[in-house]
Parts: sequence; C-alpha cells; structure tokens
Amino acid sequence: MSATEEPTRVVVVTGAGSGIGRAALDLYTERGWNAVAVDISPAGLGDLADRPDVAAVVGDVASERVNAQAVATALERFGRLDAAVLNAGYGGGGPIEAPGALDRLAEVLTVNVLGAAAGIRAAAPALRQSGGGAIVVTSSVSGLRGDPSTWAYNAAKAAQINLVRGLAIDYAAEDIRINAIAPGGTVTAMTRSQVEHPTFGATIARRIPLGRWAQPREQAEAIFFLTSPAASYITGTVLSVDGGLSANGGILLPPAGPGEPPG
Ligand code: NAD
Repeated sequence: MSATEEPTRVVVVTGAGSGIGRAALDLYTERGWNAVAVDISPAGLGDLADRPDVAAVVGDVASERVNAQAVATALERFGRLDAAVLNAGYGGGGPIEAPGALDRLAEVLTVNVLGAAAGIRAAAPALRQSGGGAIVVTSSVSGLRGDPSTWAYNAAKAAQINLVRGLAIDYAAEDIRINAIAPGGTVTAMTRSQVEHPTFGATIARRIPLGRWAQPREQAEAIFFLTSPAASYITGTVLSVDGGLSANGGILLPPAGPGEPPG
C-alpha cells in the first residue's frame, strides 16, 4: 500500500450464516471490504472456509470471549476494523403466562441486547484505533411498537434501539457512529414459515404500503449505507427499512393494489 492508498476496510458481521447477516457479508465483500463472519451455527459459516477476504468465528454473540475473538481476528488477519454489524438475534412468542415464558424472555434479551452491547464493547477500542468507525445494530419494527404474542421480542428490540441511542452519545466525540435499522418483514430462515403460510404472508403484505416483504439484500443496503461516508453525520438514529409498514396506521391495502382509499 502506498502512502496515499486507502486501506482495505474491515467489518465484523454477526449472524452472518444466514438471512440479513449473510446478505450484509456478501454486500461488503462485493464492495471490496474484508470481513469477519460470526455465527453460532458452524454450518452457516461452512462455505466461507477458503475465502481470502473472510474469516469465520463460530460462537455465541452473548459471549464476551466470542466478541473479543471476532475483533482480534479482524486485527490479526486484516490489520484493522472499520465497522461492526451486530445483527445476530431472534425472537420468541407465546403467552406470558405459559410455562417457561420468563426463561424465554431472558434468552431473547440475552442474544439481542446483551449480544449487541457486548459487540459494541468489543468493537469500540478497535474502531478508535482506526480513527473512528461505525456500528449498526439490527433491531426491528417490532422494537417500535407491539405485535401479537411477541412481547419478549418487542421488549428486546426496543431495548436495542435505546442502547444505540445512549452509546451513540458516548462515542460521538470519537467519531464512532452507532445506529440501528428497523427491518420490517424480510424473507429469511426466521420468517420462512410465515412467508410460506397459506394466508399469513399475504395478509402481512397487505399492511405494507410497498405491498411485499423485503429481501435480505434490501436490509443489507441500508446497513452498508449507515457505515459508509455517505452517513457521516448520522448517529444515534433508527432507520426503518420496512416498505412503509411503520408509517401505516394498520389499515389493510386493497388486495389488488392501492386503488381507492378506504372509507
Ligand atoms: P436468520 O435466522 O436468517 O439469521 C440469523 C442468524 O443469526 C443465523 O445464522 C443464526 O445462527 C445466527 N444467530 C442466532 N443466534 C445467535 C447467537 N446467539 N450468536 C451468534 N449467531 C446467532 O434471521 P434474520 O431474519 O436474518 O435475522 C437477522 C436479524 O434481523 C435478527 O436480529 C432479527 O431479529 C432481525 N430482524 C429480522 C426480520 C425478518 O423479518 N427476517 C425483521 C426484523 C428484524
């Protein structure tokens, strides 16, 4: 690298074995970044073994050791860290009075909230060494309002958003920007049974002004934007990537498209 040449940028992506995380990993590497892919599922990372531009770390994002390992891998293998995409997460449903409901809440809070906090804690010193950087947490429209039988996930995804706001303030002076995206329904392994359900997938789509579920790549583009120089003045915010779902008060679109306004 000559004195004027830009270094190759490096990102850590969690939950990179599937869905939105995999789409983000693909987008960054297509655009010339090196990446550390983190996932709890070894199978999800299996195809990355021989890639010169990707290092794989198998482990749980709720573990401080795994987050430290991901950042150390970025520094050792690629020499720096510029961004972290803290995307691993999942939900859970059911009545709050069901057996084990609070254990389930603890699990969902652990992966989504503790996982994101541990990721920020591990990434920040390495971003500081690079002179600044950006972090994106994958929250959800479920963190902006409630959904039926989704209270644990609603709580966890809302907590992620305020975690981002608070820490964005703490790190702003070091030019470490921290933002969240709030995806709406996106076609991934997590939602496959909903999308493929004979009526549910289409019914949800009728609440989305753009009239369809998102593809993971559309979430990845928003994530990439928030870590790019184009977003240099954006921190502590949550970007809804939901086809207008959160703008809609809840009225179903007519089946064939926008048509006449109801009532
Ligand atoms: P996905 O199931 O396709 O991918 C999630 C990945 O995270 C999987 O590879 C899984 O193995 C990994 N993972 C789960 N727990 C982990 C842990 N503890 N440590 C490390 N890796 C772990 O799901 P997705 O839809 O791509 O979800 C990605 C993120 O997007 C999640 O945070 C989810 O809550 C959020 N989200 C998804 C949707 C949607 O409609 N798909 C909507 C809003 C938000």
